[in-house]
Amino acid sequence: MKILEMHVTPIAISDPPLLNAAGLHAPYALRTIVELVSDDGLYGVGEVPGGASITAWLEQCRSHLLGQDPFQLNAIAETLKTRLGGRINPRHLALVQSAIEVACFDLMGKAVNRPVVDLLGGKTRDQVDFAAYLFYKYEGVGGALGFKTRDNAQGWGAARGAEALDAKGIVDQAKAMCEAYGFKSLKLKGGVFPPEEEVEAMFALSDAFGPDTPLRLDPNAIWSLETSITWGKRLEGVLEYYEDPVRTQEAMAELAKNVSLPLATNMCTTSFADIPGAMKLGSEAIILSDHHYWGGLRATLDLGRICQTFGRGLSMHSNSHVGISLAAMVHVGAALPYLSYACDTHYPWQYEDVVTKPLEFIDGAIKVPDSPGLGVELDRDSLAALHETYKNCGLDERNDELAMQVKQPGWRFAATRW
Ligand SMILES: [Mg+2]
Repeated sequence: MKILEMHVTPIAISDPPLLNAAGLHAPYALRTIVELVSDDGLYGVGEVPGGASITAWLEQCRSHLLGQDPFQLNAIAETLKTRLGGRINPRHLALVQSAIEVACFDLMGKAVNRPVVDLLGGKTRDQVDFAAYLFYKYEGVGGALGFKTRDNAQGWGAARGAEALDAKGIVDQAKAMCEAYGFKSLKLKGGVFPPEEEVEAMFALSDAFGPDTPLRLDPNAIWSLETSITWGKRLEGVLEYYEDPVRTQEAMAELAKNVSLPLATNMCTTSFADIPGAMKLGSEAIILSDHHYWGGLRATLDLGRICQTFGRGLSMHSNSHVGISLAAMVHVGAALPYLSYACDTHYPWQYEDVVTKPLEFIDGAIKVPDSPGLGVELDRDSLAALHETYKNCGLDERNDELAMQVKQPGWRFAATRW
């Protein structure tokens, strides 16, 4: 089997005005789709956080990939590392490796008529649990169609009715999202309003959903150590985990000594190069994996083994994404013997897709597909339309600060705000 063609397609999907520590989601989220076509007429797809630079790096991979056997993942990874390694930063290299590896897995699965999870060692679970991802947000849903939501979910009014939500609005949003998708864990993206308001929202969620619903708060490292200790102590017994309230492994390690809450990260330990520091300092109890950022599905299994070895928990981080990434998350999530928590996903917030039949949330979980490869098929009309949107949307890299300045002129990102 040989790779004959590689297609790299940047797309822009409508994205709601979700608030976070870095600003605001722009009306469009950028993703890049990779398609590899083999000499036996099969195709495999991958998806990564998009934009001009990652798209350009992927384009540079084509000449190194054509003629390669997609089963030879080690050789492909080594070739890309050698050919791009001196010029590309490690973060971009991991993204590139991830997109291509997932597309190769999809191809391999189709070639041998088995789901990707079987190529990762087989299922350790039949379904992968996801959490409701709650956001403070501005009114509207983003993109050209300003009102649509995935599945035309009802009850989203709570999420988009107010200029900015209070604790009750967050509870209403959680109820609507759980009703639509059956999620059993709740995560609030914090770092937006003063800590007392966000902590109040967590208590309101706890009151509304009861002690058996796992809760997480993620201020995206915008709180000082002192603030994180103060509010962390209040949240002891309330949160399942406390995600990145402070920046750096050192500050997380210091926080860990001062609060009785498991700390989780997708910010201070984000690559294998960060592992020695994490283990030496004890910066977090849970690592939030992300196959895009860690270099692919096999790398995620490696990370799982490291977490198991060092007694760390494993969960999964997400950005705005479409169905290819979701499928990849489900396959690797099902293969991980040691995935201790419901994974993050932005999927309910996006209604546009490039797959013909999106995977479905049932009782907050997605059943691992049995069909060959990732179990999704490319919707070529949608891909072409979303590529047109990319060309016309005026964005070529994610910039939440700029998007926020449209709403609040002069707003600036601050590494520590409270
Ligand atoms: Mg996070």
